[in-house]
Amino acid sequence: MSERTMGLDSRVRVRFAPSPTGELHVGSARTALFNWLFARRHGGVFVLRSEDTDAARSSRRYEEAILEDLRWLGLDWDEGPDRGGPYGPYRQSERLEAYRAAAAQLLAAGYAYHCFCDQERLEELRARQRAAGAPPRYDRRCATLSQVEVERRLAAGEPAAVRLRAPGRETVVDDLLRGPVRFGPDAFGDFIIVRSDGVAGYNFAAAVDDRDMAITHVIRGDDHLANTARQLAVFTALGVRPPAYAHHGMIHDPGGGRLSKRYGATAVREFREAGYLPEAMVNYLALLSWSHGDDEVLDRDRLVREFDLARLSPSAATFDQAKLDWLQHEHVMALDFAEHRRRFAERLPATVAPQAAAALAAAYQPSLVAYGDAPALAAAVLDPPRLDAAARRLLTDAQVQLVEARRRRERGPDWLEPEAAREMLAGYRAWGKERGLAARDLLMPLRVALTGREHGPELHFVLAALERRETLARLDHALATAADEARPPVATRPSPTAGDHL
Ligand code: GLU
Repeated sequence: MSERTMGLDSRVRVRFAPSPTGELHVGSARTALFNWLFARRHGGVFVLRSEDTDAARSSRRYEEAILEDLRWLGLDWDEGPDRGGPYGPYRQSERLEAYRAAAAQLLAAGYAYHCFCDQERLEELRARQRAAGAPPRYDRRCATLSQVEVERRLAAGEPAAVRLRAPGRETVVDDLLRGPVRFGPDAFGDFIIVRSDGVAGYNFAAAVDDRDMAITHVIRGDDHLANTARQLAVFTALGVRPPAYAHHGMIHDPGGGRLSKRYGATAVREFREAGYLPEAMVNYLALLSWSHGDDEVLDRDRLVREFDLARLSPSAATFDQAKLDWLQHEHVMALDFAEHRRRFAERLPATVAPQAAAALAAAYQPSLVAYGDAPALAAAVLDPPRLDAAARRLLTDAQVQLVEARRRRERGPDWLEPEAAREMLAGYRAWGKERGLAARDLLMPLRVALTGREHGPELHFVLAALERRETLARLDHALATAADEARPPVATRPSPTAGDHL
């Protein structure tokens, strides 16, 4: 870590500062992950701050949902709205006093001024500027009001916002990932730091909080670069050194735009509900931004050990569902079986017997992507088979085999362990081999009789997933169907008497 990235004597303090106006987006989750990794890598502190000043759009429900998703991802925080800490409170709606005091400081020092312009005037101004092709900027009408006039209008109860005097010179964001990013003197005007209703503006509140919470590094998406320029102006006016900034690239969808619903899930919760593993999500989000060569399946500890802020990419990354699915599958394979079985079984209807759930979990571990697929995969084995015309023909030619399989299964216990089922099949195959039957002519009819399908998990798992009486019932049904099929078509049979039908 270079001196530039971290003051030698300062303890790293980073923050994740979501606005609780919706579910946790995967892009925000990635930002949280980077901050968490950086804090853990350097033995620092990870702060969670709820930026809920937009009362109309913020809700506690979303705040709780975001916290829950972060917990699910395993990104634990050291200070936050739910657990407090030495720099609290950690909800902006509870920090209004700090913003008021900071605004008063800036007003007294002349870095900020009261603005009495009402909405109507500001809208008119914007419309005029737009028509002239100029960017919307406050025209500083109130910047030069005399102290006496300001006092008089405030005393008269006239609503007033507080504006920061824009620096009027170039602002340089010295970004850790992209070097100096320059904003010209006109990049922003005198922006509002406290609205006339007393609510602090985002850029002001964020800068005051970063100061008050002793944040050393701000790691966030490059959609905040323009905000950073404004926040630097606040720091300058407050007379404190700003934190170091790193703006990583955003996640784009394959169409090139910001990751959006059009291409599928965007909220962490959707992936969680679909049955992705938090380890896989974390691994994937980390890989989206820095490469590891061929070694891509990484657990949290390894990510912490290897995290290097300087290696984060400043450019956009494309969300690749296939890559996530591949990683997810790798993490499924890496789970110990009991854990995998638990996750698989909890998705199944309560009516599925534990023996069946265990056999199916084992059957599908080599191919499973998301655990949300478990019910459909299980149903492919557990639902009563439908025997279509092709299945019926196949069964007709295999009645001898089915009778033999039935005989062998009948002797077994109610539930076969997969290993015992494998042995049973070995015996059945040996029997068939003596009679000159190919493995295919033994196993395929049995599979079709039991599931109605020619494809599916390995047959010993199918046998282990079905209780004995269910297996026998399916074989009986298959044999009856085969026998029916073998009978000559109705038209060529002697016409039945009415009694045959009744
Ligand atoms: N509350 C802002 C957001 O959710 C965050 C900002 C920040 O990292 O400063 O986009």
